[in-house]
Amino acid sequence: MQNKELHFLSNIADLLIKDIDTKELADSLKILLNLYSGLESLSLYVFDSVSNTMRNCAEDWSVVDEESSVYEAYNNIQGHDFVINSKAYKLPPVIAEINLKIKSLYMPIIREGQVFGLIDLEFGDNTSVDMEFLFLMKIIASQVSLKLQNIVLNEQSKINVEFHDSMKNIAKIIETQYELNYIVPLIGEMLDRFISDHLIYVFLKQDNEFKLIWPKACNDSRIYEVLKQLTPQTSYVLTNDDKIGAFPLTSDDEITGCIVARSTLDKLSKRDISYLEQLTRQSAITINRANAYSKVLQYATLDALTNLNNRRQFEIRLKQEIATAKRQKNPLCAMMIDIDFFKKVNDTYGHASGDIVLKTVASVIKEHLRESDIPSRYGGEEFAVLLPYTRTEEAKVVGERLRKAVEETVIPVEGKNINVTISMGLAEFQPEESGEHLFERADKALYEAKEGGRNKVCVNTSV
Ligand code: GH3
Ligand code: MG
Ligand code: MG
Repeated sequence: MQNKELHFLSNIADLLIKDIDTKELADSLKILLNLYSGLESLSLYVFDSVSNTMRNCAEDWSVVDEESSVYEAYNNIQGHDFVINSKAYKLPPVIAEINLKIKSLYMPIIREGQVFGLIDLEFGDNTSVDMEFLFLMKIIASQVSLKLQNIVLNEQSKINVEFHDSMKNIAKIIETQYELNYIVPLIGEMLDRFISDHLIYVFLKQDNEFKLIWPKACNDSRIYEVLKQLTPQTSYVLTNDDKIGAFPLTSDDEITGCIVARSTLDKLSKRDISYLEQLTRQSAITINRANAYSKVLQYATLDALTNLNNRRQFEIRLKQEIATAKRQKNPLCAMMIDIDFFKKVNDTYGHASGDIVLKTVASVIKEHLRESDIPSRYGGEEFAVLLPYTRTEEAKVVGERLRKAVEETVIPVEGKNINVTISMGLAEFQPEESGEHLFERADKALYEAKEGGRNKVCVNTSV
């Protein structure tokens, strides 16, 4: 072997031990082969048995046109070493003197003795090669085959890990949450993150109609057509072009909603479909449990996460306190509290950490109020407090105390200590005003506190 060949092989060896993806592999091979032999272009194709298509694995796994010569080469190469200028060719056992004008050279990518892809080399006009070159290419093809198997398997196992994480996360939401308004968008986001190149829509059935819950809009009429075809017995429905799939959410053999995946590139593969079926089943379990749980909670008074009064109890207590304040002519203040930049906590540390922060803030609020004050979880990361026998001036002091206490509380999440702040809006009850109106004014003040820079208390004085 000549120096030139040895150098080339050594460069290839260096390349193949690197941690690279299929695109980098194709690009680097192209450069090395170009230096060595005057190659003009190189492509890597892998046959995807799931969708029965040949794909260019270095170009986003795009599907190869069925008319293309790649398919022809793929069919012809079985049992041979190459397809050279459209003709299948097998190397003889010994190197002989030959000189071949070469334009295109396909080499097989082999896994477990089966051809599962092709390396496509295209040369400039008048490139001639000898048999030594072809033997060398055979070595390269087998090494690249091993590398590709490695990369593809790696990618597959990464997807599997992500899939199991998604399943686990969807199952876990229910540990602390039961509000569908909160859970469904979260499931939508989780599916969306896992299934790339697809748009995900989540519908729930309300009053016998599918209502889009996540994301905010869907203006593809074909999706609504697919929804009509669902029956509780179908495990999924696909459009004719296989690009849209609808997976029903069911409970006791009734359709309660639907998860729709719309591919932005290819048709949905069998693998996508199987993942989506399983994710949909898990989502249905989570949603059904949330439904069952919230039915039980209708009779509960406390919020499961924070242990403060729940929203329903808040409404009841509000009515009572307004009635008392009117009857006894006592002062009464309303306070709305909202955690500042809470979305960032979720985004940075995850929703489970967000829940810990919510719980902690709730307990700090409770701790710094008087026995007679009535704190409730109003919804999400908002709290409403009723302060009976309290005038604005006093309520401001209470608000300031809460603000400071929350600000100073160190919350350990994910091995880090973090702080959050709260903004507050206050309003004092005016005779003849409704409870709803009172809290609307407190909410306005809260909005001012947010606008004014957060971590502060604002008062609404209008009536
Ligand atoms: P601002 O300072 O303007 O209030 O910003 P923000 O990020 O707090 O406001 P925004 O209303 O945009 O975000 C509130 C977030 O609270 C969005 C929602 O996902 C999250 N959230 C609502 N309920 C819960 C819950 O029970 N647990 C967790 N972890 N997050 C929740
Ligand atoms: Mg909010
Ligand atoms: Mg907030």
